[in-house]
Amino acid sequence: MATIFSRIVAGEIPSYKVAENEEFYAFLDINPLAKGHTLVIPKREVDYFFDLEDSEIAAMQVFAKKVATAIKKAFPCVKVGQAVLGLEVPHAHIHLVPMQSEKDMLFTNPKLQLTPEDFKEIAAKISAQLA
Ligand code: 5GP
Repeated sequence: MATIFSRIVAGEIPSYKVAENEEFYAFLDINPLAKGHTLVIPKREVDYFFDLEDSEIAAMQVFAKKVATAIKKAFPCVKVGQAVLGLEVPHAHIHLVPMQSEKDMLFTNPKLQLTPEDFKEIAAKISAQLA
């Protein structure tokens, strides 16, 4: 069965898309740690990040770099942090989180409650920096 993230890529489940190319898809995390918290995934369905091919990891990281640069412009922060967990969704993904301090990367933190309008606005702000 397709993962929830494959279904997002296929458009079967809605998402707030930030960027896309042939191989990768970036969209807002639905339970964000901060405004701009984005997930980068390969379209190819692989559970464990470190099972991806070397070339895929390299290309995914370059794609994530572009997205992170756009996030930082759209949501000024000290740095954009990157994390790979994958304990919840069995489809490899990189979390990109704008950080003001180290504690912003704590996945045990309460998540932001945002409206659909907030999500749309955030995704548009990041996408605009990629244009
Ligand atoms: P992890 O697998 O890295 O532990 O966590 C999965 C992440 O995916 C979580 O931060 C969660 O909020 C996010 N997530 C889970 N399901 C969905 C979904 O259907 N849409 C979006 N946009 N994010 C999701």
